[in-house]
Amino acid sequence: MNAFDGLPPLRQVLEAHGLDPKRALGQNFLLDLNLTGRIARQALPLEGQTVIEVGPGPGGLTRALLSHGAGHVIAIEKDPRCMPALEAIAAHYPGRLTVVEGDALRIDPGTLCEGPYKIVANLPYNVGTQLLLDWITVADWPPRWTDLTLMFQKEVAQRIVAGGDDDHYGRLGVLCGWRTQAEILFDVSREAFTPPPKVTSAIVHLRPRAEPLPACLADLERVTAAAFGQRRKMLRQSLKPVGGEALLARAGIDPQRRAETLSVEEFVRLANELS
Ligand code: SAM
Repeated sequence: MNAFDGLPPLRQVLEAHGLDPKRALGQNFLLDLNLTGRIARQALPLEGQTVIEVGPGPGGLTRALLSHGAGHVIAIEKDPRCMPALEAIAAHYPGRLTVVEGDALRIDPGTLCEGPYKIVANLPYNVGTQLLLDWITVADWPPRWTDLTLMFQKEVAQRIVAGGDDDHYGRLGVLCGWRTQAEILFDVSREAFTPPPKVTSAIVHLRPRAEPLPACLADLERVTAAAFGQRRKMLRQSLKPVGGEALLARAGIDPQRRAETLSVEEFVRLANELS
């Protein structure tokens, strides 16, 4: 029996195209179109919007984005075995799906379309964090993407949204907090995937910060690397290689504090004093 969108059920698609999940490509597929629909709805409004999807695989999330009205989905997939399944979806939604075969780590999504776009993806675990960092550290800010709706391992999701005084807080939380407002929307259990991964996942939504915090990325990276490199030590000790007590005095920060107690704004202040 066909699914609600008139295309075959995803399990049948996997069988028809011999899509045995490959671990090296982080292939944990979502075959439940109700769940992919729920994920797509976190990116509303989709009507008439351009959406970049990374790693469509057999196309469960792609189909949900299209059936929820996305104007144009541009899907970047590294595995050539997925192309026939994706081409069948493109034929079902004429002119609304472009499939790009390639490595998302080597493709700037901004080069694939004009104007604003959203990114929605169930990311491959092995490259998800790097892709997110690439997207939030673009030189031109605000970025052309309007929001990101992304699946991560839950532990990574917690590090993305961590904002201080929290064991998950570190470099990733500072960089995400510097550029974005990020929140975890809901968890997705292991059993939702084929095959099930080892851990629970979570959907994270990020949008550019309403109030930008100007800072030089390289300086922000230097202070966070030094501070979190020795996160249990006082800042006067951990920040020694980048200016120690003098830097902390210029930024008006108590040298006895530890990295995890600093807000993102305080890290930005330190980065600006470094320059
Ligand atoms: N979106 C599908 C779903 O939800 O069922 C598949 C998600 S699966 C977790 C990750 C997908 O990303 C796989 O289809 C995999 O082949 C693809 N992939 C892995 N590394 C990639 C890369 N560097 N660039 C583009 N796609 C990649």
